[in-house]
Amino acid sequence: MAKNRSMQQWRVDDSVELYGIRNWGGGFFDVSEKGEVVICPQGRNKGPQVSVMEVINGLHDRGYDMPVLLRVENILDSRITRLHECFRKAIHKLGYKGEYRGVFPIKVNQQQQVLEKIAQFGSKYHHGMEVGSKAELIAAVSQFRDKQACLICNGYKDEEFVDLGLQAMRMGLNCFFVLEMPGELEMILDRGKALGVKPNIGVRAKLAVKASGHWTESGGERSTFGLTPAQIVDVVDKLKEAGMLDCLQLLHYHLGSQVPNIRDIRTAVTEAGRLYMGLVDEGAPMGYLDLGGGLAVDYDGSHTNFVSSRNYHLDEYCADVVEAVMTILDEKDVPHPHIITESGRATVAYYSVLLFNILDFSVVEIGQLPDELPEGTPETLRNLKECYNSITLRSLQECYNDAIYYRDEMRQLFSAGRVTLRQRTLSEHFFWAIMKRIAQEKNRLKHLPRDLADIDSSLADIYYANFSVFQSLTDSWAIDQLFPIMPVHRLNECPTQHCIISDITCDSDGRIDKFIDPQGMKSTLELHRLKDGEEYYMGVFLVGAYQETLGDLHNLLGDTHVVSIRIHDDGSYEYVREIRGDTVADVLSYVEYDPRRILEDIRAAAESSVREGRITPSDRFAILQAFEDGLRGYTYFER
Ligand SMILES: *Cc1c(COP(=O)(O)O)cnc(C)c1O
Repeated sequence: MAKNRSMQQWRVDDSVELYGIRNWGGGFFDVSEKGEVVICPQGRNKGPQVSVMEVINGLHDRGYDMPVLLRVENILDSRITRLHECFRKAIHKLGYKGEYRGVFPIKVNQQQQVLEKIAQFGSKYHHGMEVGSKAELIAAVSQFRDKQACLICNGYKDEEFVDLGLQAMRMGLNCFFVLEMPGELEMILDRGKALGVKPNIGVRAKLAVKASGHWTESGGERSTFGLTPAQIVDVVDKLKEAGMLDCLQLLHYHLGSQVPNIRDIRTAVTEAGRLYMGLVDEGAPMGYLDLGGGLAVDYDGSHTNFVSSRNYHLDEYCADVVEAVMTILDEKDVPHPHIITESGRATVAYYSVLLFNILDFSVVEIGQLPDELPEGTPETLRNLKECYNSITLRSLQECYNDAIYYRDEMRQLFSAGRVTLRQRTLSEHFFWAIMKRIAQEKNRLKHLPRDLADIDSSLADIYYANFSVFQSLTDSWAIDQLFPIMPVHRLNECPTQHCIISDITCDSDGRIDKFIDPQGMKSTLELHRLKDGEEYYMGVFLVGAYQETLGDLHNLLGDTHVVSIRIHDDGSYEYVREIRGDTVADVLSYVEYDPRRILEDIRAAAESSVREGRITPSDRFAILQAFEDGLRGYTYFER
């Protein structure tokens, strides 16, 4: 294991290092002396700490099975505070004249309780919202009370969308219509006239800069949204013609999400600053510069420009942004605009943890290997044994190739009926024994051939986890995003098993076989040996952004339970919000079944079994009871 510590000498600090919790935890998570993951809402070594195991036990006592999505309200609170404090510090230090106005992009997590909390926590900072559709606009307006906060309307807008925004303005909300397409302008002006409201207008710019990263396709000249400089000039001309140039108050751009490199962020702000100045030159009143999202989360804790990381801290981001805007505008004494950012990921990622238990495991079994092969053993099997006996460091790749060749040949011979089941089984044992030897030896090689690098994951134990990747970790499945994953207890014990994780969908894609590592990525995760009669609990961390609404009903595994806790200063905590996960009846109704009709059909089938004399009427009662209970049950594995 790490640093070759023997099992007895394993300490909590070794787990801290192995799983990197202090690198990616944002200060919100740590490991206690007892070897359990603790939540520290006020930071490590500060304020209260709550053990995740204690929360899990409390949930069991209240009748909740795993998996559970745990939300820690204090963390959301703290993230919003940090964002505003960092901007405030940068603004103060640099003598910037505008203010910071954050908005939360609803698409990152649209859940009602999330918006409600953001509206509540954010009110002291006038934290607003960003919407991209009518549904999101309506959701935002229902939570929005702050007349000074910004409500940014992005996305394609039809008349109804615009009307809803105008009505929000009539109620006093500070709503902006951001033009994504040149054609939207005329409609917005028309609707404004019709409803007697003067709209606040913004333009979304297509910047020339394109950031590196996973989700950054929204940037660059070929990006699907936004106006080119020529189109922006056109908008200015149209507004002038209509005598409405005073409506133009905001410039917006969005580079894409999770921008790992601060250099891209700086380049974009600079370009946008120039555009902003150009619009002021044209006589637009302006006043707001909206930098969109992109503020990244360090999922792997490496603090690099790797896609699942970022090479900057929040205070660096804020200082760089404010300084870049200021430097440009001061050239011509243009008044400093209010700076808006639409940080979604960085606001909500830390706030949710997916908790689950391990149901079972499977290992690569290597049976007894005989010293002598009996007479009549096929040549191919003899060759495999020979290969096993002759492994040396210099022949690893050759042995690997041979082993695969002979194993495949044995499989073909078996299909052709020329070797027995036992002979084939023995060949598999030799094959895996060879792989295991190669896996041990290969780490002494200077240059590791690609083939050999993949051996570890094929030899790994498979731990079967009680959740669905498709429902709860969509980005892990769809775009191989890495999330930190680790056990939440037994961290004072040495994890002896190298594992990959499989979910309980029967889909071969329902697995996790890439894990965070300070050196990039690793293909197995160190976990503890399961103990009989004792649950093993794990968590996937930093899942508060984007994972919830993208989830699908693969194998009809539905929404998990969602439980929010709030931690008090004295270390006590309460379960403030509980949302039961989908029942079997719920998910069936999503695919157009009527649960009552289902019971009716099963009742009819049972009754005909009674008529055929297969079951008694009281059997029928028990059967129907079982199906009714089944419909009410959780879609995940229940103990
Ligand atoms: C998705 C999106 C965001 C959120 O980006 P994050 O990287 O999550 O902060 C912000 N603005 C717009 C226009 C978006 O489409």
